[in-house]
Amino acid sequence: MKIAILSRNASLYSTRRLREAGEERGHTVQIIDYLRCYMDITSYSPQVIYQGQPLVDIDAVIPRIGATHTFYGTAVVRQFEMMDVFVGNESQAISRARDKLRCLQILSKRGIGLPVTGFAHSTKDIEGLLRIVGGAPLVIKLLEGTQGIGVVLTETDQAATSVIEAFRGLDANILVQEFIAEAKGADIRCFIIGGKVVAAMKRQGAPGEFRSNLHRGGNATKVKLTPDERSTALQAAKAMGLRVAGVDLLRSAHGPVVMEVNSSPGLEGIEKATGLDVAGKIVEFLEKNVDSTKKDRIKY
Ligand code: ADP
Ligand code: MG
Repeated sequence: MKIAILSRNASLYSTRRLREAGEERGHTVQIIDYLRCYMDITSYSPQVIYQGQPLVDIDAVIPRIGATHTFYGTAVVRQFEMMDVFVGNESQAISRARDKLRCLQILSKRGIGLPVTGFAHSTKDIEGLLRIVGGAPLVIKLLEGTQGIGVVLTETDQAATSVIEAFRGLDANILVQEFIAEAKGADIRCFIIGGKVVAAMKRQGAPGEFRSNLHRGGNATKVKLTPDERSTALQAAKAMGLRVAGVDLLRSAHGPVVMEVNSSPGLEGIEKATGLDVAGKIVEFLEKNVDSTKKDRIKY
């Protein structure tokens, strides 16, 4: 198979491991900086051009699209879809997952467990918004934040009101969410490939930190999921239409709640915490499905 990894940085752990896993399994792997691709959108012969040459005979694409380049990155993925190349995640699903609000709206419709969450435009409605989510303590999040940046815990309604006013004053879009205190600064990352949870880890925030992000100094260990957690994670990935996904859960007093769904989950934390060859499992999934674009059927 000829595999293209769409990634801006060949030296990132995830990109390196995917290349290694592909080559170990006898495939040709090319790492492509998607911002340097350009597209020919001619009738009947869509093409992607890279370094002056059209990319031909690619069998499968692994998109690793960064949060800052979703628009162009997903356009490149879509172009490969138009060429009937099998993609690890479809462009639509990547865009859908990128927006935290859209993601929660989709999950809520399916009845998947979520922290109680509110969203509003005007600061005139703050009081009502706080009432919906049950008052302080609350978590306030920038819609486009990642790695824990722009996630704030407010202990009182006054503090929450000030933070909401400050963010809105900057015209930032924010979510207001019930604080799941009983999670005790930990969350569970479920790594899903083709409708199966292939690995899971628990991330614990640094002492005194409610955010469990590894970038904020959290540490990760292997964890065994309950059947309820497993099925919640699978339902979330399915609802988002993601073939490869990282679903983050909090262990709340009312069962597992989904915090976010990631379409390009990192491999370093999960492989190191579990000792599993997750990159190899992604390549294996491509092997099984590479012909499905022609047959219009995905095997999980
Ligand atoms: P990011 O996309 O920046 O990672 P998240 O929504 O995942 O933002 O929040 C970052 C971290 O903050 C989570 O991993 C979790 O540990 C903590 N957190 C977020 N929302 C809540 C909440 N409602 N209750 C408790 N902890 C939360
Ligand atoms: Mg997160």
